[in-house]
Amino acid sequence: ASSAGESDGSRGSWSSSDSPGSPYRVVLLGASGVGKTAFASIFAGAADSMDSDDCELCGDEVAEKEIEVDGEAATILLLDTWDKGDEWTQESFMQIGDAYLLLYSITDRASFLRASELRITLRRFRPARHTPIILVGNKCDLVRRREVSTSEARASAAVFDCKFIETSAAMQHNVWEAFYGIVRQLRLRRDSKDD
Ligand code: GDP
Repeated sequence: ASSAGESDGSRGSWSSSDSPGSPYRVVLLGASGVGKTAFASIFAGAADSMDSDDCELCGDEVAEKEIEVDGEAATILLLDTWDKGDEWTQESFMQIGDAYLLLYSITDRASFLRASELRITLRRFRPARHTPIILVGNKCDLVRRREVSTSEARASAAVFDCKFIETSAAMQHNVWEAFYGIVRQLRLRRDSKDD
């Protein structure tokens, strides 16, 4: 796998991901226990976890993978270290992503409220409306423990102008759909660049 910061390893290399062929940096955000690690392992699948020596933000928890979406290849660099870092690291993650998967657990209302807070913070760091964010209600297999209804979450996503999907990492349900959705959003942004 190629590395994220291969130009010079400096933080500056994080701010320019628009050159052709460079991976989309997708950040997993969300309270602890909502399923970010489970998401990252499904994504990483058989692919090797990257050697991220030259990535000062990421520790080991970075995976890069090429996937095909609508007949076109896309490379995603998935960052899943957000809730393991200090405040500085967390703020950095708010700035370096090209797109965000904002997870909560449908069995944990507090994690849903946390997702709303994170969305507000994200919009502060990323005011551009076209930084794609998908609100992801994970653990939808646990129907009897549901604390957040689909309609409530969908309404909340609409208010914050992001997409919404319910997933089950345990059942591998809709997880890839979430990644495909992110790539489609990024392509829409790329194709209608007005910033
Ligand atoms: P993280 O703290 O956000 O990285 O959450 P983890 O990925 O470590 O998941 C926390 C716990 O929830 C683990 O025991 C997972 O096995 C479990 N888990 C994650 N996703 C799902 C899911 O979709 N359904 C169910 N039933 N359990 C899940």
